[in-house]
Amino acid sequence: MGIGLTGKTAIVTGGCRGIGKAIVERLANEGAKVYALDYVIPKPEEVFIEDKDIKDLVKCVQVDVTQDGSVNEAVQNVMKDSGRIDILINNAGITRDNLLMRMSEQEWDSVLNTNLKGAFLCTKAVSRIMMNQRSGRIVNIGSVVGVIGNAGQVNYSSSKAGLIGMTKSLAKELGSRNILVNLIAPGYVITPMTRKLTDEQKEYYIKNIPLKRGATPKDIANAVWFFVSDDADYITGQVLHVDGGLAI
Ligand code: NDP
Repeated sequence: MGIGLTGKTAIVTGGCRGIGKAIVERLANEGAKVYALDYVIPKPEEVFIEDKDIKDLVKCVQVDVTQDGSVNEAVQNVMKDSGRIDILINNAGITRDNLLMRMSEQEWDSVLNTNLKGAFLCTKAVSRIMMNQRSGRIVNIGSVVGVIGNAGQVNYSSSKAGLIGMTKSLAKELGSRNILVNLIAPGYVITPMTRKLTDEQKEYYIKNIPLKRGATPKDIANAVWFFVSDDADYITGQVLHVDGGLAI
């Protein structure tokens, strides 16, 4: 176990499964107290974190990132419990894929509300606290398709492209308070979200990835760790592709 984040508090949205859970485990492994904010939180009898060394550092808090009231309540609960928030990882995200001609307004709205508005609401709630602390790290989880686009994902790619604009604007707006904002653009990651892809779609991705494999959630969590570590003290407003070369 590392000690790089000892004394720090982190919030990870969508932190109870997939990439979010790997980020929760990585940050706790560096000594941070981590709050996994999620829509559905594991039942008490479920084993959420197996590693005994970090179990006590992780807590789950229910949130709907699309709702301002829910986000503020969750952030207040974290503050009551921990007294500070040093790191925010905007990871919660959904897909509702369809071709433009068939895409409903509801499919557009739900993806934009979760992926883009959700990050806006969480950042707004947390940035006030970080500004008072005069330090903070925010990492947004975007996607390769926010940079290169993807047929059938007009809603999802727009939300992820929007996150890039948000990241750069916030880096400029919050830099003077020593709050650093960056974005990670994963490619194809093996998680519950991508389990619903067809075998053909999975093969297509692997064929086009120079490293010839999908990412594990840990691959993404390692990059998050870099952005929140002291080694990234002078890096803000950046987009880091963690995609095995997919977007080259
Ligand atoms: P998962 O579907 O496995 O996990 C997403 C998490 O977000 C779930 O825990 C889900 O909660 C939570 N969530 C969804 N809506 C809300 C909401 N309204 N409020 C709070 N939490 C919510 O996805 P991944 O781990 O694969 O993806 C994580 C992030 O990485 C997403 O932003 C995704 O877009 C991005 N990404 C993923 C890639 C991949 O290949 N997997 C590639 C590129 C980017 P619940 O389960 O309770 O509904």
